[in-house]
Amino acid sequence: MPEGHTLHRLASQVQRLFVGRSWRVSSPQGRFDAGAARLHGRVPERAEAWGKQLFVHLGADIWQVHLGLYGAFSFRGDESFAGAASLGAPRTVGTQHTPEYDDTGWILPEPPRATARARIHVPHGWADLRGPSRCAVLNPMQYEAVIARLGPDPLRQPEGSLDEALLGQFQDNLRRRRISIAAALMDQAVIAGVGNIYRAESLFTEGLSPDTPSQELSGSQVSSLWATITGQLRDGVSEGTIRTLRADDPHLGLRGADVRSAVRRHWVYKHQGTPCLKCGETIRMRELQGRRLYWCPGCQTH
Ligand SMILES: [Zn+2]
Repeated sequence: MPEGHTLHRLASQVQRLFVGRSWRVSSPQGRFDAGAARLHGRVPERAEAWGKQLFVHLGADIWQVHLGLYGAFSFRGDESFAGAASLGAPRTVGTQHTPEYDDTGWILPEPPRATARARIHVPHGWADLRGPSRCAVLNPMQYEAVIARLGPDPLRQPEGSLDEALLGQFQDNLRRRRISIAAALMDQAVIAGVGNIYRAESLFTEGLSPDTPSQELSGSQVSSLWATITGQLRDGVSEGTIRTLRADDPHLGLRGADVRSAVRRHWVYKHQGTPCLKCGETIRMRELQGRRLYWCPGCQTH
């Protein structure tokens, strides 16, 4: 599932390529016809991400997209329309488009796939949304209700600084729940934007056992976890991929060379049954609420 870093990259790309330009909106698949008709011909004013959701504001209408497990946007256009070709669940990207334009100077898009829930089109390019778990037009009250159910998103802090209020919300949310920290991190009402990979890797980095009850974490453990998640998400935004293991990490010692040659990106995620690169214990995996949880019993003892 796309995690928060992908949504923030998506929001900045939509902001850069579509906001401030009159757009054409359609629903090739037909399931978003009414919403598309409402958004068509208008000028998007602002795009933002909150956790795993994208919101595009057009006056009192807000386009809400949740990519879910399978959703993705693909982008195509001429050379002035530059950015990631696809954002969301991994998808193959088609061959390069040779741009052609209509009489009004708008690029002629390729025929959409029948599965495209929405197509957004501006003079120099277009994007197709496929497979989202949610694609809807909200009014301001509905938007506020959605936001109110979401926990703090670390990527909504100003870059390079800590928002004490958001950290305080995270702390309160953890204290109010009687669930393990591993379960809490996947609850978007506790913290927004963390998915399975960031959960596994941040708990490993912090040496926290996935089974520790969330209300038993000390203030300093929560602050440190928040800082780690923030840093890992920020790296994900700037690199476009989740990499939590660096070949120059001091914990690796001589194993750094193995990591470089194996292009390994994670400490524990999907490495069950192999020795931990930090302590040598065997990395474990089990199901928790339908998602796979990965951890190192040697390192994650708090
Ligand atoms: Zn270990």
